[in-house]
Amino acid sequence: MSKSTKDLEYYASLFCQVKRGKITFSKYKEYSPYKPIFLLSIIELIENKQISENKINISGSEYVDLKQIFTKYQRILGGQFKDKKSAFHQPFENLKNDKYKDTGEQFWHLELKQESPKIEDIKDAEGRNRIKTEAKLKQLVEYGRFDDELWEILQDIQSRNYLVNVLMDTFFSDETNTQIDDTLNTFDLDAEKQNQEVTDPKNSDKKYSQRKYVVRDSLFRHSIIHIYEYQCAVCRLNLNIKPIDIGTCINIVDAAHIKPLSVSYNNQLSNGISLCKNHHWAFDNGCFGIDDKNYSIIVSNKFSEECLTTLESLKIIPMKSYHEQKIFLPIKEKFRPNPEALIWHRKKHRI
Ligand SMILES: [Zn+2]
Repeated sequence: MSKSTKDLEYYASLFCQVKRGKITFSKYKEYSPYKPIFLLSIIELIENKQISENKINISGSEYVDLKQIFTKYQRILGGQFKDKKSAFHQPFENLKNDKYKDTGEQFWHLELKQESPKIEDIKDAEGRNRIKTEAKLKQLVEYGRFDDELWEILQDIQSRNYLVNVLMDTFFSDETNTQIDDTLNTFDLDAEKQNQEVTDPKNSDKKYSQRKYVVRDSLFRHSIIHIYEYQCAVCRLNLNIKPIDIGTCINIVDAAHIKPLSVSYNNQLSNGISLCKNHHWAFDNGCFGIDDKNYSIIVSNKFSEECLTTLESLKIIPMKSYHEQKIFLPIKEKFRPNPEALIWHRKKHRI
């Protein structure tokens, strides 16, 4: 189906189809992560109001900030590319070649300096139409920018979240990232470090708790549902949707914080649990807690539930029938729910 309106779905389909080089590392083949990481980094820059107009400059503090964010996510999400020198300039230049399949329209544009040759006349030493180094990029380019329609869409928080999730979905498959375990470990260590910094009494400005981290939040969710094998830890429901125009399925299981982020500033994976929408709500509202020793479900007696159908084929499982059943647990022990957080949750809800 062709699409002419430049709306959220149009850009989501462009984002999940950005062309990525496939590189072979000894025994693995892996797609280059640079373009998705570049897009994620710009979204985080917008989220934190570090950039306010549709102009990604190639110099100045904005550029330094963007490069810093890019390098951070290259380390976490880069797979086989994580330890390579920051290749920030590559997607900055190369993204201009990604075009919508039906119209051939690009969504990322380079504005060249006045004295630069036309973009189609730029050649590298091998005679190819590309800018190969950061120095050359700085010499020829003034700034990069998105389509105005995309820039407008990115001002909306829900659209940003949606596009971040679309991009993040490209990293959490064994096909595109052979180093998912490493991504999980690096993210978890970073979260631990950040938690220590935020809760350190010397760090009184609490800058981390006030800043928004749209990419980090999405990373937390994707990591949690990955270690819980894409299912609710209570009922094992695995629900996916496949939006029109987007090639990949989106899993809609939630990653719940056991001790809320607003209280704990803790994004470590042991403070998370994968739950379907119903059981997420029930957990957050204290309908059940989890035993901190054997991980069995303890259903509260402070709510009532009623099944309003006698249709046996519906197989409705009331919350109370999960009492004393064990939740589904991640294989790695260090990612299992933190007992201290489970106790905190039960105490808060008097379970
Ligand atoms: Zn469930």
